[in-house]
Amino acid sequence: MNSKIEKIYLKLPVFLQNIVIMLYGFNENRIRYSGVYNTFSKEIERNCYLNDKEVKKWQENRLRKLFNDAIENVPYYRKNMTLNASEINRFRIEDLKYLPMLEKNTVKRYADQFVSESLTEKKIEIHTTGTTGTPLKIICTPEIRQKNYAYFNRFLNIAGVDYNGKRATFGGRIIVDYNQKSSPFWRYSPFQKNMLFSSYHICEKTIESYTRALQRLRPSYIDAYPSSLYMFAKYAEQKGISLRGLTKSIVTSAEVLHPCQREVIEKQFGVPIYDQYGSAEMCVFIAQCSLGKYHIHSDYSIVEFIKDDGAYAGPGEEAEIVCTGFINPVMPLIRYKIGDRGIVSGDKCKCGNKFPVLERIIGRSDDYIITPDGRKIGRLSPVLKGYPVREAQYIQEKPDEIIVNVVKDAEYNEYTGFKIEDELRKRLGDRIKICINCVNKIERSKGGKYKTVISRIHES
Ligand SMILES: [Zn+2]
Repeated sequence: MNSKIEKIYLKLPVFLQNIVIMLYGFNENRIRYSGVYNTFSKEIERNCYLNDKEVKKWQENRLRKLFNDAIENVPYYRKNMTLNASEINRFRIEDLKYLPMLEKNTVKRYADQFVSESLTEKKIEIHTTGTTGTPLKIICTPEIRQKNYAYFNRFLNIAGVDYNGKRATFGGRIIVDYNQKSSPFWRYSPFQKNMLFSSYHICEKTIESYTRALQRLRPSYIDAYPSSLYMFAKYAEQKGISLRGLTKSIVTSAEVLHPCQREVIEKQFGVPIYDQYGSAEMCVFIAQCSLGKYHIHSDYSIVEFIKDDGAYAGPGEEAEIVCTGFINPVMPLIRYKIGDRGIVSGDKCKCGNKFPVLERIIGRSDDYIITPDGRKIGRLSPVLKGYPVREAQYIQEKPDEIIVNVVKDAEYNEYTGFKIEDELRKRLGDRIKICINCVNKIERSKGGKYKTVISRIHES
């Protein structure tokens, strides 16, 4: 929904909003599940059972095609890629390391030069949803979107989630006007069998009405941003409301799911979360299987894990995620540094899915504070675990100061602030000023996503 339509929509009475949501959902379904969706879903269905040798062959064929197309049709690669036809024909996965890595800023700066000149179909523009900096514009087509949905539904299928059943969504979209004070804080999309819940109205006063709505709906799964459902589960925990039996499973995506969020959500709902990690750039797809392992979907892209010293990471090591996507030839990204980090695993999974396993996604590589003595301090999201704080966000605008915005929990008192400061001092040292600021809510980015650290230092 564009912002003009959204403004009009938010002023409508509830029954008309439901009609708009219904029509919107009808149209979304038509776009998602028409065209190549069915044939492509069948085509990729068995790929995760291919053995390593077969996957490699498959990837190398795709890679060669991708390079040929890129050099022929994409101005940036025509100018910058030095491989000749015979080198491409002989290209192996192991040769990837000799190609340069692609920075996000390069794609931002030369966005138009990354778009294939062979594009004749209707194009779709997608924008990445970072909190800081300018968003990145990604160009694709309806067909590419359909392929992307085929991958998402394959993941649900592998995880054992009944995606044809009823769904409850807690995402980043604005469904209900912020000033609305009483329920319903949800709207129903019948063609998608999806109840869209507003993430922005969850609070102590409304939690019971939300829970009753979920009880009436009994969704087969909940599809959520981790931060939204975490907040929901925390209020329920605090008020002693049981969420058990409300749904069979939970699917999270769009933000990094932190272990402390998983713990609270799974405990309160009594069902497992299946988490998916992807991106608007459509060049990585990592998702949990029925046994809870994160598999890297190797037919979607090639994912490399590069350590800070430039070497490939081994099992247990943390590294930067670098990916080469197969599904968007309209805007090919080769060895693209997506900006997130993960921990490599040496495990094999017993679920039958042969795709490689990742230990876990850590999150943004720019999620760190720089101390006055130049140290980079990351992993701040679990720092306040166990403290009466619902959510926190760290903002650094000056080299010698950080602002910590906290949303208080019921047990928060005057000493909590001192304890939080102590906790942070252990990591950040004495030379940085820590300003703890109690707020009613943490502002979300344009796409409704929650970000732990915002640093305007590394931006400048
Ligand atoms: Zn598995």
